[in-house]
Amino acid sequence: MSPRARVVTWSPSVTLVPTRSCFNRCGYCSFRDPIDPRAPLAGLLAPELALGLLDSRPGAAEVLLLSGEVAPGSPRRPTWFAALLGLSRLALHAGRLPHTNAGPLSDREMAALGRLNPSMGLMLEGLGPAYEALHRQAPSKRLEVRLGQLEQAGRLGIPFTTGLLLGVGETRADQREALELLALLHRTWGHIQEVILQPFRPGGEAAAPLAPAEALPLLDLIAEARQILPAEVHLQLPPNLWPRDLLLDAIAAGIDDLGGLDTEDVINPAYPQPGPAALAELLGTAGWELRPRLCVHPRWIPWLPMTLRAAAEAAAQRLSPDG
Ligand code: SF4
Repeated sequence: MSPRARVVTWSPSVTLVPTRSCFNRCGYCSFRDPIDPRAPLAGLLAPELALGLLDSRPGAAEVLLLSGEVAPGSPRRPTWFAALLGLSRLALHAGRLPHTNAGPLSDREMAALGRLNPSMGLMLEGLGPAYEALHRQAPSKRLEVRLGQLEQAGRLGIPFTTGLLLGVGETRADQREALELLALLHRTWGHIQEVILQPFRPGGEAAAPLAPAEALPLLDLIAEARQILPAEVHLQLPPNLWPRDLLLDAIAAGIDDLGGLDTEDVINPAYPQPGPAALAELLGTAGWELRPRLCVHPRWIPWLPMTLRAAAEAAAQRLSPDG
């Protein structure tokens, strides 16, 4: 294997939340707004508000569309899906690159968004009894649904981000099996550009940073993930959910990407995002360069339809190290 370049990437990003309404009820969620299934879908993010958010982050090449979900077959679904398409178009017209993560999509929905999004994402999260217990009231988190989505994205040729939620009671064997499934999917379709290893952190009043003693076993998992996943699959760690004192250890173990960084993590607002300048300084002490990237990694840009490829190449020219 060729020696690893001493580069760690991140994506200057701005997050748009079309809605927090969600028909799932995951056991750990602090993002979701309760939904009244009889009422029309209200409170979708208005285009003018979305444009204001984009203006507030002029250096953010990535527009992360992170949405609560509407049940398949619900009369609300067309309105919700039209909002995802509209916000994707709005981002592209503003010279940004949308990256949608809005739960499971039908084949037609994913194909339509894939024509507007250079990359998309859906966490696998994990497998085994611990996840099943947390997702009893979250139909879209069933393992077969998630795996079906990852396969569908592969068939459609969409550069894809996925990942695992760690530390919810799963065993090491569960973690290993989940990584092996992701490796198999990537070997089949070649589309998994990054795997996020996301330590679970509680929200609200229970919020507390990950203690080094909890993080240390995850260093072994990072190293194992690096062995299991093909070399071109980037390994991502959210730096706000990880002890700063162990960030260099995580990078040495195999992390090569710090994900999309906005001014706030809307899923985990209790955990402040470190700024890219502070991260670059820390990485520099060990000879690592922190480099901005697009939501789609360079290897997958040739996969894109012509208009998206042109948009990605233009955005790459403008990438700002400061986001
Ligand atoms: S799918 Fe996402 S938004 Fe919906 S309940 Fe689960 S974690 Fe919360």
